[in-house]
Amino acid sequence: MSDQITWEKCPQCGDSAAVGWVKVREITGPTVVWMPAEFDCPAGCDLTQEERLAAFDPSSWV
Ligand SMILES: [Zn+2]
Repeated sequence: MSDQITWEKCPQCGDSAAVGWVKVREITGPTVVWMPAEFDCPAGCDLTQEERLAAFDPSSWV
């Protein structure tokens, strides 16, 4: 279940892929960070959690 969906460039095929973001509140403070929890590329590419974190930067749209 994602809080927000954005379309990002797929790092594997270069097409637009849907990225589902989940808002995570850090335990230590009020900071809220967005994590790319879901990834759905129409071409069927599959990314690991590490690859998602490296490929997608929420600061481009937050
Ligand atoms: Zn792809």
